[in-house]
Amino acid sequence: MDYRENFDVKKLTSFKIGGEIARVYFPTDVDEFLEAIEKEPNAFIAGNLSNILVSSDGYDGAVILTKKMDRITFDGKKVLAGAGVRGTKLSKLALENNLSGLEFMVAFPGSVGGEVFMNAGAHGQMIADVLSCARIYSPEKGIFTLNNSEMEFSYRTSICQRMPYYVLEAEFELEEKSSSEIQEKMDENLSFRLNKQPSLTLPNCGSTFRNPQGDSAGRLLEQAGMKGFVSGGVYVWENHANFIINDNDGTSLDVLNLMYEMYKRVKEKFGIELKPEVRYLGGNNKKEVEICKILYQK
Ligand SMILES: Cc1cc2nc3c(=O)[nH]c(=O)nc-3n(C[C@H](O)[C@H](O)[C@H](O)COP(=O)(O)OP(=O)(O)OC[C@H]3O[C@@H](n4cnc5c(N)ncnc54)[C@H](O)[C@@H]3O)c2cc1C
Repeated sequence: MDYRENFDVKKLTSFKIGGEIARVYFPTDVDEFLEAIEKEPNAFIAGNLSNILVSSDGYDGAVILTKKMDRITFDGKKVLAGAGVRGTKLSKLALENNLSGLEFMVAFPGSVGGEVFMNAGAHGQMIADVLSCARIYSPEKGIFTLNNSEMEFSYRTSICQRMPYYVLEAEFELEEKSSSEIQEKMDENLSFRLNKQPSLTLPNCGSTFRNPQGDSAGRLLEQAGMKGFVSGGVYVWENHANFIINDNDGTSLDVLNLMYEMYKRVKEKFGIELKPEVRYLGGNNKKEVEICKILYQK
């Protein structure tokens, strides 16, 4: 199995931020995943690093990156995808097979594992709408399968956020449609994203904060005057205030300082405490740890 020590992860993250990770494993299948997790029971599991802020001061532990667990099998209206399959690739293959249901993933930078963990969604569709079951690993139970209702999906969450459950594979049940109909929906989604979400040419990590119930984090942040606000090498995107862009070799501390400012202003103006959607992986920088204690309330 591909294994690296003191691995510089910066280029692999969608934020283009991050220092060295002490030990990184790149399993290509379930057997290699098991081998890695047996060696490193406390490893952090990551997919395509499109929703994680890795500290510029690095991470001293082990990370299992599922990126290479990328097998895809179509069987009639069903598709089985490894945890590391990119959402965008899966949506394109579904189109080639005249299968509808994954059009929302068309420009998703995340992996299937990360998307199931997050119940990722867009354009009125989400993982919970199409997932039939997921093959899970937990240190206590080993490998087992959970069906859709057992995944306890709701807005940007699943059981995997409450239990140490790691997604190995996911099966989706899709609907047969003409490729022109599917393509049309994908084009619609893509053009919507053009103005509302930054593409990866502007390094970012997706939505910074979760939407509070009945409201939008972007609206609150805009009203709090955050659009264009600069912190070191990063800034709040002018088109949507819930996105942070790294345009000048920003660091994780630049991002966290900015997240704290966003959180503080919304709390002062609206009395709402925004909760981060972006995850943090680090721990070597005292200032970052202090900010995380407030933001993540840990
Ligand atoms: C440009 C851009 C656009 C985006 N658009 C959207 C969008 O429209 N909708 C949306 O919902 N999100 C969006 N995101 C956010 C992000 O892509 C999703 O949250 C995605 O689900 C993260 O997947 P990942 O593989 O990159 O996960 P990572 O960033 O690697 O990890 C994120 C979390 O998932 C956990 N995780 C990863 N893999 C597994 C696994 N196999 N088993 C258990 N847990 C796992 C990690 O431990 C971590 O806590 C966007 C991000 C970017 C950068």
